[in-house]
Amino acid sequence: MDFSIPPATETLLAKIRGFMEEEVYPLEQETRGKGFRELIPRLEQTRQKVRKMGLWAPQVPTEYGGLGLGFMEHALVCEELAKSPYGMYVFNAQAPDAGNMEILNEFGTEAQKERWLRPLTAGEIRSCFAMTEPEHAGSNPVWMSTTAVKDGGDYVINGHKWFTTAADGAAFAVVMVVTDPDAPPHERASQIIVPTDTAGYRRVRNISCMGEEGEDWASHGEITFEDCRVPQENLLGGEGQGFAIAQARLGPGRIHHCMRWIGISERSFDLMCRRAATRETAPGELLGSKQTIQNWIAESRAEINAARLLVHHAGWRIDQVGAKEARVDVSLIKFFVAGVMAKVIDRALQTHGALGFSDDTVLSYFYRHERASRIYDGPDEVHKSVVARTILKQYGVGKSAT
Ligand SMILES: Cc1cc2nc3c(=O)[nH]c(=O)nc-3n(C[C@H](O)[C@H](O)[C@H](O)COP(=O)(O)OP(=O)(O)OC[C@H]3O[C@@H](n4cnc5c(N)ncnc54)[C@H](O)[C@@H]3O)c2cc1C
Repeated sequence: MDFSIPPATETLLAKIRGFMEEEVYPLEQETRGKGFRELIPRLEQTRQKVRKMGLWAPQVPTEYGGLGLGFMEHALVCEELAKSPYGMYVFNAQAPDAGNMEILNEFGTEAQKERWLRPLTAGEIRSCFAMTEPEHAGSNPVWMSTTAVKDGGDYVINGHKWFTTAADGAAFAVVMVVTDPDAPPHERASQIIVPTDTAGYRRVRNISCMGEEGEDWASHGEITFEDCRVPQENLLGGEGQGFAIAQARLGPGRIHHCMRWIGISERSFDLMCRRAATRETAPGELLGSKQTIQNWIAESRAEINAARLLVHHAGWRIDQVGAKEARVDVSLIKFFVAGVMAKVIDRALQTHGALGFSDDTVLSYFYRHERASRIYDGPDEVHKSVVARTILKQYGVGKSAT
């Protein structure tokens, strides 16, 4: 077993860490209370610095202007970038664009890459990914009503989606649609690129979440498609490959999500320790001298370390046996790391008392927004079920079940 990180990657991580501390963390106070759209010019200045330092779009192949990092190297970078809510965005590694760049690169035609991937990687446009429908349980992804029917050289799309992150201001949506309702469940759907200025595409609203409607990239949209017509060349990959493409995106994508959550846990942990080391409950009596706070520090350290090791192991398994075979390893980290992050953020917030509840630190942002980690990318309960059923199969339970 070798847990060392290659020296070149260490150098890159140190550079990113320094940039985050000097340029990105300060943005949190500067931008407090402002809507995302108002922040864009300020964030663009920071993006410009990222480009100049040669750190732009770390996950993107070099031929499209990125750093071309391997999948585990990028996982380590995600941990650093996620320590601030703006980190992924200013490096152009933010969801859902990063996932769309990945699938366009892997499955897109040359024409699609030129039209969509190039401006996306340059940070000139944004995109969104529309799969979940309000009428159906997202935890059963094969159950969808949005359809695309061929007509002449076009697809005509009708349907209703929600929680389409960053739909507000996106230039295009990658939309999961049923193209063959009679096919086996995992071959019914396809992914189609829909420019958001197409007639029949409508963003109904930004869904208010945890008290915030959000805007631009920092939003979750509800959208409808009414006889929305796009050319058949906008099909991504083959017809019926929608779920295969989604799987290709999700397996390694979950490693990156989990490393992001570890970054958020680390930042929260650091804030907790700083507060414990400086806040006095009486003259000369530090908060850190209380056993409860010490327990939180020790437990959080052990849990974050365990979470990171588990993610690295799952990444190694994907490299060794492929995403499909490593399904259980990926399910384990999805719920485990989300749970660790929730606990660490909560302890850090509590350690800060009223200050933690205020927006003067980043903790209240993490507390509100990261709650969703237990719901998206497959609710925790679904992943636990995958793990438990696989284990129980070894005990003879449900051998014929999938
Ligand atoms: C912040 C955020 C961003 C999102 N971004 C996107 C996006 O960009 N694009 C997109 O298409 N979607 C997006 N989603 C939607 C997300 O993928 C779905 O919310 C998720 O798949 C769960 O579906 P659901 O909300 O319909 O919950 P349901 O499927 O209705 O499930 C509700 C609850 O039931 C329980 N449950 C469900 N199934 C089981 C089971 N098998 N066993 C035990 N318990 C179960 C779980 O506790 C679950 O939380 C986003 C969601 C959030 C919160």
